[in-house]
Formats: sequence, structure tokens, C-alpha cells
Amino acid sequence: MLKLKTTFLALALAGAATMATGLTASAQDKATVGIAMPTKSSARWIDDGNNMVKVLKERGYNTDLQYAEDDIPNQLSQVENMVTKGAKALVIAAIDGTTLSDVLKQAKAKGITVIAYDRLIRGTPNVDYYATFDNFQVGVLQAQSIEKGLGLKEGKGPFNIELFGGSPDDNNAYFFYNGAMSVLKPYIDSGKLVVASGQMGMDKVATLRWDGATAQARMDNLLSAYYGNKKINAVLSPYDGISIGIISSLKGVGYGSADQPMPVISGQDAEVPSIKAMLRGDQYSTIFKDTRDLAKVTADMVDAALAGKQVTVNDTKTYENGVKTVPSYLLKPVVVYKDNWEKVLVESGYYKKAQFQ
Ligand code: BGC
Repeated sequence: MLKLKTTFLALALAGAATMATGLTASAQDKATVGIAMPTKSSARWIDDGNNMVKVLKERGYNTDLQYAEDDIPNQLSQVENMVTKGAKALVIAAIDGTTLSDVLKQAKAKGITVIAYDRLIRGTPNVDYYATFDNFQVGVLQAQSIEKGLGLKEGKGPFNIELFGGSPDDNNAYFFYNGAMSVLKPYIDSGKLVVASGQMGMDKVATLRWDGATAQARMDNLLSAYYGNKKINAVLSPYDGISIGIISSLKGVGYGSADQPMPVISGQDAEVPSIKAMLRGDQYSTIFKDTRDLAKVTADMVDAALAGKQVTVNDTKTYENGVKTVPSYLLKPVVVYKDNWEKVLVESGYYKKAQFQ
């Protein structure tokens, strides 16, 4: 009896040991994907990180998600850690698209797949794919919303406008600006739009790190230097956080009242505070980029690359990073106004109606 018991116990222990090794083995088999996001200061990147983790976990990967609070050395060391810890793929939304060359060289030497997420990584051959939205089209849609808000197509004008660009170390900022100018420039040339400050071109209108406070300070200066005796009718803003700074500045000098209405202001990312600003009439439009779709496209890239299969892309011409043209998948951005926000953002399940009440 005792013998039997012992054998039973031995068997049970052996079984438990096998189970334990079995578990460890399969956990080890799961590839880890490192996800480097720029900052938690904007809701869009929080959604991006969460969606990436969700989709990759559903597909059986381990994930290592890191946020760098817009600090370049911090992001660099986060990516270095991912490489050291054995990630099989890296998904990186860079703070500065040019600062990762060394670590990506190490990644390539280890056979790690590198995917630039939403923002192009520049100046290195060691970026395999790029998943993003049609960034030029984002700018086109922002400017078309200004065209619509002012009634430019109907021949109205002239109107005063000021231009804001995104961060000069983010490749996207140039695409947004150029896309917008493809629509606005003809009106500026014909005099229907007047940039009273004369400040045009990314070298003059960029906003380092997409910082709302920086934009607010620039808007304060523009208003006091050029709008003492005239009204501003439109502001091209590339991002909701920048629009918030611009709106605060305008409110500070009395805009947003019946005799001094808010100018037509664009935005991007459809962040909740900015949708609320739109409903109040402070902001005119924003651009929605569905981060659920971007996560899915990126996870498809990871799956295919790690399985040695062909990665699906839909653009092999546009995104030249200074060294190579990076094969890309571009998703479609959607313009959001007061009259379609519920359909685009709530009916699609991206937000809950209660978030706006
Ligand atoms: C993204 C935008 C975002 C901006 C600021 C850009 O790279 O494409 O969606 O508004 O960064 O975070």
C-alpha cells in the first residue's frame, strides 16, 4: 500500500513536472514583440499601445509595451532593452525619426523585424516595413475642412489665416503640411487667403514635439503682432493638442463670442476633449485615424514577417527615408465634423456616447 502510494505520488509529481515544463516551453515559444510608443500625454498613443497589445496577445504573442514621455534618450534605451531581452519584432512610433540608427543596426544583426508604426523611421536601412495612414491625405482633409468652413469654393473671401505645423523631427509633419498646402496655396496665391504674419513653410510654422503650450505661445505672439486691428478667420492646426493651445490663446483675447466668432480651426486624432470643443463650436474639424485598424495591419505585418511569408503592403513609392523606400501600408483617414462625429466615432464603437455627456 505504501509502495503504491509512493508510486502514485511519484507519478503525480512527474506529471506535474511535465505540465510545468510543458507550460514553460510553450510560453518560451511565444515570440515577444516590443512596442515603443512616444508618449502618454496624448490619448491617441494610449489607444495605439492598448490596441497593439490586445491584437498581438489574441494572436499568441508576448508583448513589451513602453512609453517614453517624449524623451529621446529614454525611448532609445527602451528599444535597446527590447533588443537585449530577445524581442523577435519591434513596433516603433519614434519620437525623433532619426535617432534610432545604432540600435536598429543591432536589431538587424539579430534578425529582428523592425516596423515603423505611424511615424517613419529615417536615415537607416534597418527598417523593414511602415504601417501608417495616408499622411498627405490627412493634410488635404484638414485644409478642405477650412475651405468648407470659410466657403472658399463658393468664392467667399478674402480671409485671414495662420498656419501651424507639427514637430519638425516627425516625418509626418511635412506630409500633413504639404497635403494642406496643396489645397490652401492656390487661395493664398489668388489673395482669397491672406497669411497676415507672412509665416509659411515648415521652417517657420513647425511646433516642436507637437506641444500645445508652444503653439499657444506662438499664437499669442501672432495675435499681438499682426492682429491688433484685424480679425483672424482660420487656423490650420495639424493636431488636436495644438488646436487646444491655439483655442486658449484666441479665447484670451476675446474670440468665441457673437461679435468675435472663433476662426475655423482644424485638428487631428479625434481626441475626446477636442470633440467636445467641436460640439461647443470652438474647433471646426478633426481627423479620425482608427488605431484599431492600424494595430491590425501592424500585427498582420508581424505575423507574416515572423512566419517568413510575404508581408502585405499597398505603397512602395511614397516613403523614402533618406536611405531606402520603406514598403508601407497606408490606411484612410476620415474627416470629422459636428454633423458626422456620432456616426464615425460612436457608431463604429471607437468611443461611447457617455464619454461626451
Ligand atoms: C501622428 C498624429 C499625431 C501627431 C502628434 C503624428 O506622428 O501621425 O496622429 O497627431 O503625431 O502626436
